[in-house]
Amino acid sequence: MDDISKVLVSKEEIEKMVDRLGKQISDDYQDEEILVVGIMKGAVVFLADLIRKITSPVILDFMSVSSYLDGTVSTGKVNIKKDLDTKDISGKNILLVEDIIDSGVTMSCLTEELKKRNPKSIKVCAAFDKPSRRKVDFSADYIGIAVPDEFIVGYGLDYAGKYRNLSDVRVVELDGGNK
Ligand code: IMP
Ligand code: MG
Repeated sequence: MDDISKVLVSKEEIEKMVDRLGKQISDDYQDEEILVVGIMKGAVVFLADLIRKITSPVILDFMSVSSYLDGTVSTGKVNIKKDLDTKDISGKNILLVEDIIDSGVTMSCLTEELKKRNPKSIKVCAAFDKPSRRKVDFSADYIGIAVPDEFIVGYGLDYAGKYRNLSDVRVVELDGGNK
């Protein structure tokens, strides 16, 4: 674990952040039902904490996606590896829960794609945000903690599949600098 020694966000800071987001979301949706969609796998830890701080009625679903920038379109493309179990989302309030917004490509493409299915509303909640890395114009509706341009792990986030189970967030010291 020598390469991931620096703690960037403590367990206590994460707890406060989740409390704050849960309150904000509950205030906004009140008694309206929310279809909370966890983006696998990174958002799973955050999602589990967050939904227990939401007092509005919640239904859970999951998606798994990958995205890429496509030279022919300005926004990039999203590849849906696992789609929602909920076949019809028309008239529903969708809240996408993501681990981190980096280039913004994944969430901007996914929200555009899901809008075609006519939900009542669609919002994004991200635990972490790297605003300095944007390649497309995108901002989440609910943001936990903004982080600098460093590769981070823990609290669901991985490096080559590892470290998702750390309770705090740490910086990976990659050889030759960060990606
Ligand atoms: P983007 O916003 O489309 O560039 O992609 C965001 C995705 O990249 C997230 O869902 C993460 O899976 C991954 N990602 C971006 N930055 C980090 C990081 O610092 N640590 C771990 N995963 C990251
Ligand atoms: Mg991800």
